[in-house]
Amino acid sequence: MDASGSQQLLDGDWDDISDSEFLNIPCEQQDIDPHRPLSSETDGEHSVDFDSPSVSTLSVYNHNEEALGQETVKTDYARGLKRKSLHENSFSPMQRFFKRHLSVTLLCDQSWCEMKTVYSLLKPHLKRKDLQCTEVQRGKEIHLLRELEIQDTVPIDIRTREDAEAIKLLNMLHMIPLLEAGERVREFPVFGVQEGVFVMGVIDELMYNQKGELVVNELKTRKCNSMPSSAQDKVNCFQVGLYKLLFDGLVRGEVKKDHVLNHLKLRSAQVLGARVQAHAKSIGVQVTTFEELLDALLITVSCSDLPCVDMLQLEYYHQGSSGPIGNRVAPFDEAQLRAELQGYLAYWTGQREPKGVDIEEAWKCRSCLYEQTCDWRKNRSQVSDQQAAHASSCS
Ligand code: SF4
Repeated sequence: MDASGSQQLLDGDWDDISDSEFLNIPCEQQDIDPHRPLSSETDGEHSVDFDSPSVSTLSVYNHNEEALGQETVKTDYARGLKRKSLHENSFSPMQRFFKRHLSVTLLCDQSWCEMKTVYSLLKPHLKRKDLQCTEVQRGKEIHLLRELEIQDTVPIDIRTREDAEAIKLLNMLHMIPLLEAGERVREFPVFGVQEGVFVMGVIDELMYNQKGELVVNELKTRKCNSMPSSAQDKVNCFQVGLYKLLFDGLVRGEVKKDHVLNHLKLRSAQVLGARVQAHAKSIGVQVTTFEELLDALLITVSCSDLPCVDMLQLEYYHQGSSGPIGNRVAPFDEAQLRAELQGYLAYWTGQREPKGVDIEEAWKCRSCLYEQTCDWRKNRSQVSDQQAAHASSCS
């Protein structure tokens, strides 16, 4: 039984094919003064998303009359964001884009093209339109059908950000004993601090193989009835590698209560809503406040019998026929993965400027939403033209 926020249908949030990250921007910025350091405590009513398909924190915001009254401010600020230079460096990108955390989805997008990720934040309407396309919707349907194969969804009324996050923690608490008993679980949230940045994701499926190894199984749906290109494969391997880092950190007890409370600006003493408390009780968890629930989750996961992830698997399905295309075991090189992650996070923490694709990956630009407006692509074309002109003048 998987609990979900009752406003789920209004949002359609989804993890690895979702727009959950940029949907956070209007929510997170609503009560933030752009001139004030973002570390200050907020009123706790704007959205933070655990990158989960199950809970719509944006919808919580939409149901808040006070928040609706701030629509004008929000729109003006969005225009201001568009006018800002990509290279403005008075705030780090984490601050500039009002991010308390990064999602695995966003980091995977970044590994495809960092500049594209930045444009998707500056021009969210374009990405939103793209996500309405048939293939994304079909992928969502297939994911949902798979999730419902093994667990029902119970809608729960949520009123605060803490309620929304509590639902995800309760889902974890519900799934941990199932996993300990050798069952498979789907949509398992994971989170932790990497290089000083809070990162969240949702593992598609966790199960044991015949050797008794714990496997992360990531379902990918494809329009083409063929295995992905090496470039796409690289992104997918990075994704499941991140899941392992985050999951292993949880079971090793590396995630601390303060990481969650401080990074996400959640109120520890916030009393959970009556429906959330009732749901907690129904799965054997007696809690009143968010802090009590967070303590319960962190102790349960770190003291559980769960092992670290042994194997990473990618499972490809064809969207048209819903039939399998093939499986692939993803390699895991922790040092390489951490180095790659460090490189991506260096942009978010303001240590370097964003960059677009290398010349040998210029083919990515041909299917990019931002091809016409991308400065990186324009500059690269100019450099190529100058080099060609120089070569012909020398010959
Ligand atoms: S046009 Fe190319 S470099 Fe620019 S955002 Fe798109 S993929 Fe990246």
